[in-house]
Amino acid sequence: MLRWLKPALPTELTIAGRPVPVVATRRAGARTVRLKANAITGRIELSLPGRGGEAAAATLLKSHHGWLEARVSRWPRPLPFRPGAHVPVDGEPVLIDWHPAHPRTPLLGPGRLRVGGPAEALPGRVERWLKARARADMEATTLALAGQIGRRVARVAIADQSSRWGSCAGWNRPEGARIGYSWRLILAPAWVRRAIVAHEVAHLVHPDHSPAFHALNRQLDPRATEARRWLARHGAALHWVGREI
Ligand SMILES: [Zn+2]
Repeated sequence: MLRWLKPALPTELTIAGRPVPVVATRRAGARTVRLKANAITGRIELSLPGRGGEAAAATLLKSHHGWLEARVSRWPRPLPFRPGAHVPVDGEPVLIDWHPAHPRTPLLGPGRLRVGGPAEALPGRVERWLKARARADMEATTLALAGQIGRRVARVAIADQSSRWGSCAGWNRPEGARIGYSWRLILAPAWVRRAIVAHEVAHLVHPDHSPAFHALNRQLDPRATEARRWLARHGAALHWVGREI
C-alpha cells in the first residue's frame, strides 16, 4: 500500500496569526470526521474513523478555515510566568516582581508576588508556588465541608486536568474518598473555588447529579450555579496561564 500517497494532515496551522497544533485521533466505530477548535488545550482536534478519513479531514480543515479563524481569534492569549507579567491569583491580577536578589521562595504581598533566583527557574518556581497554595487552600476547605456532613476524605490531590475542575472517586469507601482538583482553581476567585469544593464534597453523599445532590451542594455553598457560570465564561483563560504558546 502506498501510504505516502494519502493526503497528509498538517501537524500545525497558522490561524488568526497564531501557530496552532493540529492533533488527529481515531475513534473505532465512527463513520465521520469531526473537527473541534479546543479553546482549553489550544489545539485543533480532528477525530477520524477507525480507518481512513484523512482526505475528508484535509477537506474539512480547508472548508472550515473561516470558521477556525473566527474561533481561534476568540481564544485566550497565553500568559507566561515572566517578570512584570500580571497573573490572576484568587481572581485578582498579581504582578510577578522578580529580581535575582529577592528571596527565592515566592512571597505574596498586596498585588505583587516577590520572587528571586535564576530567571530560567522563574516559571517553574511560580507554578510550584501556585500548586502548593491551591493544595493547602482546597484541602482545608474540603476537610471542613466534609466534616460538616460527617464524611471522611482519604486524600485531596491537585492535578492539571483540562476536562474538569474537580473529581470525586471512591465516595463509599470506608477509609474515605479521593477528591481531586485542578490547581488552576487557585487563579479563580475564592468563592468560585469554594463552590467547586462544595460540589465534590456533596458527591461524598450522592454519587450522581440528582436533585438531592444539588440540594446538598447548595446547602454546603449557595453559589454553586454562579460558580459554574463564572467558569463557563472565564475558565478557558485559566488554562492559558503559565503557558508559553
Ligand atoms: Zn459532579
